[in-house]
Amino acid sequence: MPSINASIITIGDELLIGQTIDTNSAFIAKKLNEIGIWLRRRLAVGDLKNEIIAALEEESRNAGIVIITGGLGPTADDITKPVLCEYFGSTLVRHKETETFINEIFTRLGRPVGERNLKQADLPDNCQVLFNKRGTAPGMWFEKNGVICISLPGVPHEMKGIMEDEVLPRLKKLQGLPVILHRTLLTAGAGESVIADKLESFESILPSHIKLAYLPSYGQVKLRLTSQGSSAQALEPELDDLFDKLKTEVAEWLVIDDDLPMEKVIMEVLSAKGATLATAESCTGGYISHLITSMPGSSKIFKGSVVAYANDVKSSVLQVDKNTLDKYGAVSEQTVKEMLQGVIQNLSADYGIATSGIMGPDGGSPEKPVGTVWVAVGNIESMEAKKFHYRFDRQRNIELTALGALDFLRRFILKKDQDSH
Ligand code: AMP
Ligand code: MG
Repeated sequence: MPSINASIITIGDELLIGQTIDTNSAFIAKKLNEIGIWLRRRLAVGDLKNEIIAALEEESRNAGIVIITGGLGPTADDITKPVLCEYFGSTLVRHKETETFINEIFTRLGRPVGERNLKQADLPDNCQVLFNKRGTAPGMWFEKNGVICISLPGVPHEMKGIMEDEVLPRLKKLQGLPVILHRTLLTAGAGESVIADKLESFESILPSHIKLAYLPSYGQVKLRLTSQGSSAQALEPELDDLFDKLKTEVAEWLVIDDDLPMEKVIMEVLSAKGATLATAESCTGGYISHLITSMPGSSKIFKGSVVAYANDVKSSVLQVDKNTLDKYGAVSEQTVKEMLQGVIQNLSADYGIATSGIMGPDGGSPEKPVGTVWVAVGNIESMEAKKFHYRFDRQRNIELTALGALDFLRRFILKKDQDSH
């Protein structure tokens, strides 16, 4: 089947020195994939004429579509537009619609429009202008020797707007795009090699047009089945059948048969029960509440959090007994259980999570090395506590603890539900 490949070139010195993380490529790649365009390559180059031209020449030799972002700002360090003019043999002409729009933006802001800003409306005479309703730099669509080259601003929300409004509708009209379908599930509690051992025979029955991908992170592994062909109708039954088989194979670790994060799963589990959650966070410092509150709709289930980092806050706000802290220490089963009880009562929540651990790099001891974490989950009637051992750096330990704690609560609820049936 003919397929159209694309390359993404992101431009900007800030990408090469690690000051800005290239999120544009990930967004564009995902959107292209959804409409059946495979990404061949992604690369980043600095704001340098020779580098930009070399990247354009190289990618145009091998891809049907080249999308570039960045370097369209009004300042001297942004050189993409003049470089494109040279590459495509264009002359800059004032684009009236863009000029009017820029004037409108400045009038609305109550600021005088400068010549530097109006120059953003000088655009190559041999491109289609892609209107940018979120900023002053429009996108540009060129075609040369059968290759489509699309230039977009680097500012992520402007790039996304032009992709959605202008680029994707045009690309969808291209002939011969294959259909690409994905089915994704989330597992927790097993590493990817354990899962791979379990899936050996499943993988051996997959036809060549269906691929299985392992995406591990923070104690979880996402599994994605991808099928490619010419019609969704033909692909779907086969893919769904294999996805069902996959779910059965990994049933003991399955969290959800969808591409959803753990915090969303917890939110849905609690919503379905009409139940609420509160967290008492020492070592995670509010990270669990951050994950939950990042989900739209979390106000339905989330009561709040006490970040009880210091011991005196554990006892004064969460009523952890001072004797418990003295006798067992802050990182102990007894302390997290009392923290949990305290937060459930104080915040009148149905369920709670409590964390206390040593995140490193300092603070470890032979009995409680860095990475020792106690987590308690439960409700007013019963609770469970568990010790986790992590061994990474501080940030990763915090993230692993948060995801581990959410999964611990999910399993606790699941078990109670099963026991009561
Ligand atoms: P520019 O169009 O080069 O002026 O880019 C404007 C701003 O967009 C930069 O300062 C970056 O913060 C951001 N930016 C540029 N390229 C990217 C990228 N590939 N991913 C995420 N942000 C970017
Ligand atoms: Mg730039």
